[in-house]
Amino acid sequence: MAFGSTALSSNASFDPFWWRAAPHEQKTPSVPPQRTDVAIVGSGITGLVAAIHLARGGRQVTVFEAKEPGHGASTRNAGYVGRTLKHGFGEIMEAEGLDKAKAVYGELMEAFLSVKDTIEQEKMQCHYRQQGRLLLATSPAMHDAMAREFALRETHLGESFATVSRAEQRDEISTDHYFGGVRIADHAGLHPGLYHQGLLDAARDAGVTICAFTPVLGFRKEEQGFSVFVKGTKVSARELIFATNGYGGKEFPWLNRRIMPFHAYQTVSAPMGENRVKSILPGDRTFIDWNFNVDWMRAAPGDPTRIIFGGLTGEIDADLRVMAERLHQRLLRVFPDLGDLQFDHVWTGKCGGTFDINPRIGCHDGVYYAGGYCFAGVPMGTLFGKKLAMRILGLPGGESVFDTPPPAKWFYHGNAWFVPHAIKWMSRGDR
Ligand SMILES: Cc1cc2nc3c(=O)[nH]c(=O)nc-3n(C[C@H](O)[C@H](O)[C@H](O)COP(=O)(O)OP(=O)(O)OC[C@H]3O[C@@H](n4cnc5c(N)ncnc54)[C@H](O)[C@@H]3O)c2cc1C
Repeated sequence: MAFGSTALSSNASFDPFWWRAAPHEQKTPSVPPQRTDVAIVGSGITGLVAAIHLARGGRQVTVFEAKEPGHGASTRNAGYVGRTLKHGFGEIMEAEGLDKAKAVYGELMEAFLSVKDTIEQEKMQCHYRQQGRLLLATSPAMHDAMAREFALRETHLGESFATVSRAEQRDEISTDHYFGGVRIADHAGLHPGLYHQGLLDAARDAGVTICAFTPVLGFRKEEQGFSVFVKGTKVSARELIFATNGYGGKEFPWLNRRIMPFHAYQTVSAPMGENRVKSILPGDRTFIDWNFNVDWMRAAPGDPTRIIFGGLTGEIDADLRVMAERLHQRLLRVFPDLGDLQFDHVWTGKCGGTFDINPRIGCHDGVYYAGGYCFAGVPMGTLFGKKLAMRILGLPGGESVFDTPPPAKWFYHGNAWFVPHAIKWMSRGDR
């Protein structure tokens, strides 16, 4: 493989593009308090949203973050805000009945709306826009299956959609690679770095203590609450939340056996001119195919001269220069004319998934947790962060259809070596 030949520009970076507009803090670690009402492990969307609501509910809250605030997937994602689950409405309806399907998808709607509410309440500027999403079919059969699935959602949930034929698709995206798709007009996109920055600012304004560069090493249950062990000291907490998703480890072994990490990869192009971006993506949607292992693309929020392209989810944490070349090849399958395009950024982040590919929220032995969102952590993390806070505050709104313990498997104790192979196997029907 020839490095530096095609995919990467001469000044390419391996940090997320989002960190340009929302630079990560490189502060010295804060001094942890001796005691706190609520200790939260992880400073991503889930942890910060929980922290904001708890602090406003009168609790003294401390967020512990192993690295800089927002180190995890919350500042590495694609900023798609939709109603996304790996299990279709039709699949749940068939397996568990209409009521269950409606309850599950009702909660996805709640999560979707919670992002807009949060942005409005906190008066955030994070390029949130309901620009619509185009889900793309990679075969005629997939197009038909999508049309059936979304017709069911329209009938039972009242969520409207439009089918886009292959002949119409070029009004949205300049390629013949796909076989049409489904357009959902109200789905949104945002700038993940600025969304996270807005949450961090709101948390600090609410009085939350953020202890960055302070990994939690473990905890012990006490008669009243927990001892939380961080480097060199112990913090007493009445309540404890784990919001570590794909970045969790042995400090909470029970959860570590139930949420598996896997990598996703993303790029942003060098500036190519607004007109060229518009000619490639005239529909200006968030675009994503309907495979199990998806490719996605959109104009970069906040910089319409660039495009975002991502994919190859679940690949082993490889050299990012290799991944840039591979993503470039995938991009050329969709847009063969973009041979001259180079990436200014290529980066990775860790998602978290459960064995049944459903997100979870719950409490195990007194410890609250939420995660396993796959590619839906922007809305689901926002909702579940709030729900965790409502539970601890004893307020209504904390209940969830996803509140069942995530399954464990006898062979999995935190070494996720097999996950890339499992994702490949589950993607075997993709084209
Ligand atoms: C490339 C990519 C694209 C994605 N695209 C989308 C998308 O478009 N839309 C969408 O909805 N979702 C998307 N996702 C998923 C989404 O980003 C995540 O589901 C979501 O950010 C999870 O948020 P979180 O707060 O639960 O966890 P994270 O943001 O991952 O935060 C967990 C934090 O916990 C910290 N931590 C871990 N262990 C410890 C410890 N022991 N002590 C202290 N701190 C600890 C970590 O350092 C990390 O900062 C994408 C993910 C990736 C990687």
